[in-house]
Amino acid sequence: MTEDTWQRVRNELQQTVGKHNFTNWIAPLEFVELADGVASFQVPTSFIGNWVSRNFGEQIQQMLRHSGSDVHRVEFSVQKKRPTAKSTEASVDDTAQPNVAPSPSTKPVTDLPGAPLDSRFTFENFVVGKPNELAHAAARRVAEGGPVSFNPLFLYGGVGLGKTHLMHAIAHELQTNRPDLNVVYLSAEQFMYRFVQALRDKKMMDFKELFRSVDILMVDDVQFIAGKGSTQEEFFHTFNALVDQNKQIIISADRAPGEIKDLEERIKSRLQCGLVVDLHPTDYELRLGILQQKVEQYKKQDSSLSLVPGVLEFLAHRISTNVRVLEGALTRLFAFASLVGREITLELAQDCLADILRSSDRKITIEEIQRKVSEHYNIRLSEMIGPRRVRTIARPRQVAMYLAKQLTSRSLPEIGRRFGGRDHTTVMHGVKKIEELRSTNNQMDEDLELLRRSLEA
Ligand code: ADP
Ligand code: MG
Repeated sequence: MTEDTWQRVRNELQQTVGKHNFTNWIAPLEFVELADGVASFQVPTSFIGNWVSRNFGEQIQQMLRHSGSDVHRVEFSVQKKRPTAKSTEASVDDTAQPNVAPSPSTKPVTDLPGAPLDSRFTFENFVVGKPNELAHAAARRVAEGGPVSFNPLFLYGGVGLGKTHLMHAIAHELQTNRPDLNVVYLSAEQFMYRFVQALRDKKMMDFKELFRSVDILMVDDVQFIAGKGSTQEEFFHTFNALVDQNKQIIISADRAPGEIKDLEERIKSRLQCGLVVDLHPTDYELRLGILQQKVEQYKKQDSSLSLVPGVLEFLAHRISTNVRVLEGALTRLFAFASLVGREITLELAQDCLADILRSSDRKITIEEIQRKVSEHYNIRLSEMIGPRRVRTIARPRQVAMYLAKQLTSRSLPEIGRRFGGRDHTTVMHGVKKIEELRSTNNQMDEDLELLRRSLEA
């Protein structure tokens, strides 16, 4: 990576983060160097460093990667320095996630080649709700450190739903419950990194020995090794060796084993042998619970923090992407409120989080509605906009019109046009009809609710 690459990424950031954010946080960054996969930047104050690390670190790292740089960590420090020197400044890597607490605190779990654990990722700090209760229960069970009952435990789910958090929580708990066990946690990327390093340094024997002496191995984001031939192979051998010795293995990925592309069949089937549990997308209650918990924690550090009722509900309702974004929003809100010394009102939240709110404010299109509704009633999309008026087609069409009126800001004539050039009075009639049905017919009400939810998901 060169200064040029950074300038390009910087320009891109200018487009994506908004003018305000760019001026405050990105503009002050000075690229120092890229060494050993660590991109270092100089920042004017450690406050800015922490802030950027938490709120933009991952984004910067990803963008640098996309522009072809081999970056696996981004570091922001006040002094110009070699990135290999012990850093006291904020840094982001694949395991350190942005969080509410102002200073990251990590401790090594073992002398073995594991990654440091985030001390905030504990079971106590994990809010359990419907979407994650199974994964949580399974993680709890493994954390007891009793006899191995399912091997591996395979946790999967979308970005920011708590996979890494649960894995760290297991490791923390095991350190307390079973200090005799040798627990190693690392990302699949780090596994690969060490493997390649061992190959290069001709230390494969050591590598194998190290990993095979582990009692509990956790590998995070295993989808990363898919398609990486020899790493995959080595992972498979390590995996088998440990399973044969009846050692517990815990794996996470962003999707189910069977759905990971370029993963060898035999690995897939081994991964499926144990217990496979998924973390579902968060629901409103879970999001609200997480926000409440984060506020409690934050209040312990800053008792002057004050929130107007309804702000958390607003955030839980409006930000439905993932927990990380939710946390990022809260962090920004707190920092902003403490900088300007103001109570957090709905207005302040809307102002300060405009970009996040905008990006999660997904626009539903009439086409999507037509597609979903056709699927739901099992008719063809072409029939939806076609001329036929038999009930089995006309009714779904009216449902789609009704949803289009409810979920988009299109006018009746516009909706009519999208339904094969129908008149606006036809749309009005359809909407009325469904409104009537909805109030008298339970099935209709349920259908509409289901469709609305799946469209808003
Ligand atoms: P993943 O590894 O699935 O991408 P993480 O475990 O890194 O997600 O979670 C992202 C952030 O959201 C972390 O800061 C984590 O603490 C937080 N988080 C996710 N789920 C929960 C939860 N149920 N309760 C509390 N915090 C959560
Ligand atoms: Mg993760």
